[in-house]
Amino acid sequence: MRVVFLGTSSGTPTLARYLSSVAVVREGEIFLFDCGEGTQIRFRRARLRFSRLERIFISHLHGDHVTGLMGLLMSLQMAERVQPLYLHGPPGLQEYVLTCKRLLHTQFAYQLIVEEAGKAGVLCDTPEYYVECAPLEHRLFTLGFALQEKPRPGVFNVAVAQALGIPEGPLYGRLQRGETIVLEDGRTVRPEQVLGPPRPGKRIAYCPDTRPCENALALARNADLLIHEGTFGAELHAEAVRKTHATVVEAAEIAKTAGAKRLVLTHFSPRYRDLEPLRQQAAAIFPHVTVAEDLMEIEV
Ligand SMILES: [Zn+2]
Ligand SMILES: [Zn+2]
Repeated sequence: MRVVFLGTSSGTPTLARYLSSVAVVREGEIFLFDCGEGTQIRFRRARLRFSRLERIFISHLHGDHVTGLMGLLMSLQMAERVQPLYLHGPPGLQEYVLTCKRLLHTQFAYQLIVEEAGKAGVLCDTPEYYVECAPLEHRLFTLGFALQEKPRPGVFNVAVAQALGIPEGPLYGRLQRGETIVLEDGRTVRPEQVLGPPRPGKRIAYCPDTRPCENALALARNADLLIHEGTFGAELHAEAVRKTHATVVEAAEIAKTAGAKRLVLTHFSPRYRDLEPLRQQAAAIFPHVTVAEDLMEIEV
């Protein structure tokens, strides 16, 4: 999976940082997490294709996470999108979209499927992946998300298959799909005889605006990549508590406790120009940390 940070500022955009949005590209499909103002411009700048956009996940209805949504949806209409688009988010998201549509006198020819979640659960479940959500601790109802790939079958060992006398062709495919087959001479071959160990799927957790909490920890558990807000440095801990945000040190503690492999901090207060001091604060707790920049890309 390829993760592209489209906006990394909190509250207001700066010349260098747009508002919250992260794109995840998986097998040609694009998932968008949050859609702050200007997301569609960053989306184009990152050379992502609107036609590949499958699902949008909105964490909460604070403006810096959602004000880019209507513009993006309208651009999809202008691009003559026909395939459906899934929009997942907190209660109120449907009303927000419908109200904007009505007041802006806009219609979408494509099907926009809005699914609201008011508690922890699974938002979509496909043969290859699923997405979990769980409420975080913020002054407005906020969801965190985790995209979890399902385990893939092990690598097919052609040499072993040949040694077993399995003819090349459709039987290979059936074994790869986990089926036991019967050869012409009556012997049976089980998939585990020719497949390596299952390959675990990757996990990407997205924890936007929140105080450190159990649900953030659960979403981040064993994540290959944890994307966590780090609005403030440790020196502004009191402000972080008051505004229900996390400091970069608190985010690092979540990553460490959860056993995440890598942490990327985002959603920085616009007061910070140089983020290296914040990175150092976090790295003292959790060394494998990066501070996000707009248009930064990471392979997971
Ligand atoms: Zn925010
Ligand atoms: Zn917020």
